[in-house]
Amino acid sequence: MLGQMMKMPLLISSILRHAARHHGHVEVVSRRVEGDIHRYTWADCAVRAGQLASALESIGIEQGDRIGTLAWNGYRHLETYYGVSGMGAITHTINPRLHPDQIAWMIGHAENVAVVFDLTFLPIVRSIATRCPSVKTWIALCDRTLLPNEAGISTGIPNLIAFEDLIQSGSDQWNWPQFDEQRASGLCYTSGTTGDPKGVLYSHRSTILHAYASCLPDAFGFSARDCILPVVPMFHVNAWGIPYAAALVGAKLVFPGPNLDGRSLYELFESEQVTFSGGVPTIWFGLLNHLESHQLRFTSLKRTVIGGSACPPSMIRAFRERYGVEVLHAWGMTELSPLGSVCALQNKHLSEPLEAQQRRLEKQGHAFFGVDLRVVNDAGEDLPWDGSSQGHLQARGPWVIESYFKSAGGNPLTFDAQGEGWFPTGDVATIDSDGYLQITDRSKDVIKSGGEWISSVDLENLAVAHPGVAMAAVIGIPHPKWDERPLLVVVPKPGIALERVELLQFFDGKVPRWWVPDDVQFVESIPLGATGKMLKNRLREQFKDLQLADT
Ligand code: AMP
Repeated sequence: MLGQMMKMPLLISSILRHAARHHGHVEVVSRRVEGDIHRYTWADCAVRAGQLASALESIGIEQGDRIGTLAWNGYRHLETYYGVSGMGAITHTINPRLHPDQIAWMIGHAENVAVVFDLTFLPIVRSIATRCPSVKTWIALCDRTLLPNEAGISTGIPNLIAFEDLIQSGSDQWNWPQFDEQRASGLCYTSGTTGDPKGVLYSHRSTILHAYASCLPDAFGFSARDCILPVVPMFHVNAWGIPYAAALVGAKLVFPGPNLDGRSLYELFESEQVTFSGGVPTIWFGLLNHLESHQLRFTSLKRTVIGGSACPPSMIRAFRERYGVEVLHAWGMTELSPLGSVCALQNKHLSEPLEAQQRRLEKQGHAFFGVDLRVVNDAGEDLPWDGSSQGHLQARGPWVIESYFKSAGGNPLTFDAQGEGWFPTGDVATIDSDGYLQITDRSKDVIKSGGEWISSVDLENLAVAHPGVAMAAVIGIPHPKWDERPLLVVVPKPGIALERVELLQFFDGKVPRWWVPDDVQFVESIPLGATGKMLKNRLREQFKDLQLADT
């Protein structure tokens, strides 16, 4: 027997309609590329997103078409998110920090028919426009007066129009179409370090379920009382879904635009009375330094989610102990929309000493309904949840990828012996008896020495705790006896002369003896990818001929 409830598809347009109807007066504030502050409400946003959808339809954009975006966090990007996906087309967010060749490749692979871009990225667009034959319209996120053609600057960009002109041409009586919730809504390519990037195609259903779950109290815990500033870019996994979740609960949203330095962020946190923020650890280093050097405090910030790479324990401590801000350490990936786990304490942990709580908060957290996690050995067998058995981390759930965009035959990724689909995350992790996940490495970065795994992440965390170390990476170097041994690659802090022996002694007593790296290489910088992650494959290439002593 079927249930007898309404069949309303979970569509992205329905979140915006809710925000406009029930929280219509709540503000969306943006620091613009133009340099000023723009403010309007969710009700205004809904009208303009509808105008955009109507205008896109009138220039020939059809359902299923992919529209690229090269843009900072701002209200016009938000309107693009809702207008494009809401009309049934697909929002393809592109990371502007990638090399222009890679951006052109992605636009071609996704067959984008239009691309919207902030004027900051005009040089990129100019350099790739003639190499992107699928793009029929380039849309600059500005009004006509700032459009390069109008300003007398020759662009060489065919069919360039101003976003504001497009919006003005749209109807303000637009009705959002209804369709199957499984339809694609967004596309984001993973920042793979090898091979071509791979596209992850989100659906309306996966996006809405992810947004619902991210609001749960043990996830981000959003409410209509929050003022949320996503520092995490909207070009990186939909800013962790925050633009959807904020509308879903009717929270105020604040967009920082292009200025992500500590001072600019702090000013915005204070002037808009931000209660929640989120971003990768690098961003918070800048903010904490600014606070420290100017003896400042937060007057409204309560919680911040930190993820994308491991959050250094010292950062959790600083936020908690010095500024009274709760840190939610989160783990996720593009293929998981991105949320996989968030670290919040359970009732039984509240009576533990502060140090024990701190150590728990350093883990990557606990799954919440919608994501199932497990760790398996090389044979694919489940490993115990004992906090020490390291294995390959796998995930499944309604917002976990099944197959990559345009993958051969759309093949599902992997199925285990029981025919159950589990996505192999490529991370190595432990899960403890309370269900808390700890990422110990990437599968391709873990060092296998004498058949045992050494966590490069643990060694890097220790190395950066040394007062003379600015940055550190640990990679495996082939070894005749042990297969691989760890090599420590270090960027010293400016003006500090580091000694190899002293640095290696720093590990004594802190890790098993056989984990201590065999050697140290001092470098000026460590190569970083477009999302700020260390490109260890480049280091492995650089040091592949290094001979380690036969220990
Ligand atoms: P991306 O898809 O570019 O967001 O990268 C996802 C990868 O980032 C994951 O598979 C992890 O290797 C890493 N990652 C994300 N969050 C964390 C975290 N909190 N701690 C450690 N690694 C993380």
